[in-house]
Amino acid sequence: MAFAKKIEPGTAVRLAEIDPAYDAGLSKDDGEKLTKDLAKRLDELDDLHYEAGMNSVLIVLQGRDTSGKDGTIRFLLSSLNAQGCRVAPFKVPTPIELAHDFLWRVHAVTPPKGGMTIFNRSHYEDVLVVRVHSLVPEAVWRPRYEHIDAFERLLADSGTIILKFMLHISKEEQERRLLDRENEVQKAWKLNVGDWKERAYWDDYTAAYEEALSRCSTARAPWYVVPADKKWFRNLAIAETLVNTLEPYRKAWLERLEGIGEAAKAELEEFRRSQA
Ligand code: AMP
Ligand code: MG
Repeated sequence: MAFAKKIEPGTAVRLAEIDPAYDAGLSKDDGEKLTKDLAKRLDELDDLHYEAGMNSVLIVLQGRDTSGKDGTIRFLLSSLNAQGCRVAPFKVPTPIELAHDFLWRVHAVTPPKGGMTIFNRSHYEDVLVVRVHSLVPEAVWRPRYEHIDAFERLLADSGTIILKFMLHISKEEQERRLLDRENEVQKAWKLNVGDWKERAYWDDYTAAYEEALSRCSTARAPWYVVPADKKWFRNLAIAETLVNTLEPYRKAWLERLEGIGEAAKAELEEFRRSQA
């Protein structure tokens, strides 16, 4: 059972071959029940991860406008131990950020041991929006795939568990969501003419995403394409991928916690003996 599509390293990605409305034949009700169970397991794993302090977890969220990055963050924060969890949004770079290499602002907000950080957009914007709008010449953005790979290798070698999710929506679903923002008072704050302008570059973004997914999915930092037309299925796929990724660490985290507990007990006994 795998709801998100893992991009195998070195394979060419064709987004048109992945159905954004895929739901594994589940009803919304059944999907939500599964998600609830997974969220409970995720919370438990996240507690162990936080207390053991051996690894960090980095979740990269990418996707076109309206693909559900904010909704995914709301879902994750409602399921996780808020103490160790941070969100890092990546906006248009400031002049100071632009005066540095493109990874400078990214490295500064990577998760510490025991922490989990969700990137709302990421260093991938530097090969997505930057490429689509030729914000720098190709001779500058093209070598970035390798820089990204080396950067993620550094993080992984330092104990970071990396998961990268591309929220995959259809052009029709994006139009519905953009129109909703115009028609519903509660969503109107998200209205942004820029989103309609970006929509005109749909195919350029497809090409940019396909290359980023193909070039930068590695065993240590895999990309997952998440069918995201249905919000409940998106949450399910993300919860499942996270649980499956973190579960193999459970044993090591528990052993570390037992070790910490035993050391504390020994110290306490030593203290009591010294008082006797
Ligand atoms: P939002 O996620 O809706 O708050 O919008 C953030 C905006 O910042 C998006 O339009 C991104 O394309 C843009 N952005 C993020 N990173 C970069 C970058 N490295 N270069 C240019 N624009 C960026
Ligand atoms: Mg936006």
